[in-house]
Amino acid sequence: MYIPASSKYLKVLYGAHIYGPKTAAMHRARELGFDTVQIFLGGPQRMFVRDIREDIKTAIKELIAEKNICVIAHAPYAMNIFSKDADIRSSSWSAIMHHSSVCSEMNIGIAVMHENRTMDREKRIHTVKAFAIAYTEHELKRKPGERVILAFENQNDKIDELYELVMEAKDELERVGLPSSYITTCADITHVYMYTRPAKSWEEFTGNLFPVLLKMAENGALNVIHVSDTAHPMGSNKHRHTFIGEGTIGMENIYSVLKWTKKLRKVKAIYKDVPLSKTISVILEHPSNTLRTFESDDAFSIILKSGIRHR
Ligand SMILES: [Zn+2]
Ligand SMILES: [Zn+2]
Repeated sequence: MYIPASSKYLKVLYGAHIYGPKTAAMHRARELGFDTVQIFLGGPQRMFVRDIREDIKTAIKELIAEKNICVIAHAPYAMNIFSKDADIRSSSWSAIMHHSSVCSEMNIGIAVMHENRTMDREKRIHTVKAFAIAYTEHELKRKPGERVILAFENQNDKIDELYELVMEAKDELERVGLPSSYITTCADITHVYMYTRPAKSWEEFTGNLFPVLLKMAENGALNVIHVSDTAHPMGSNKHRHTFIGEGTIGMENIYSVLKWTKKLRKVKAIYKDVPLSKTISVILEHPSNTLRTFESDDAFSIILKSGIRHR
């Protein structure tokens, strides 16, 4: 597991989603200077991740320890613990527990799962409370360094509702005497953008969004931020990843998001029991063209040019 230097403030980590052979990609990511990286453990369209070869598990585990890099494993898209369909709900429940166990075997500390809500509010709150207890008890069976934080990723612009849902889960965990750091959120900015209607200016859009993200961070309920570009305009309900700077968001606006994340470094870390809960990973997401991304070092040069990090 990635162990951040102990600090009373949140630590902001920068990196990208990487595709391709996992160990090679991770070596490359560290060479490029990333402190964090996001990967898929298997086909994103499936429900359960397939078993990963022992040698790959060992290699990833060693890399995490040796390079001190934070690794996030994005769970398959089909999982949805809030589905109206009881079968999908129960298989998602077991699938995420399995995904977390696979992450743990490699010392991957954070898993991201989509929040594809279709239930009404009351049922979602009931579900998240029951799930948070089951998930946390599942994690507590392992040693502290082998537990996995689970971040729910927003699939639309209702990020404040996702935040409330996660806070309900945290309150419930505290009420029953369990640690509340293992349930958190991942904020995908483009998912907010695609559903923001009527379309606003970028300044107005971020003027509404940034204070919400700051409040989430201050309350220990934000550990991952996804930054990407998209082929479709704000409010179009559609999203297709483009390379960063080549979509409707554009490079200047991407820089403005990255620069804003500096503010998060001044936020006091709430949860001291789980080291990773004191970090926010800013992940650049882009299309799965491994060759182009890693040949041209796009993602890292964007981070450098934004002025938030120096080589
Ligand atoms: Zn996602
Ligand atoms: Zn995302």
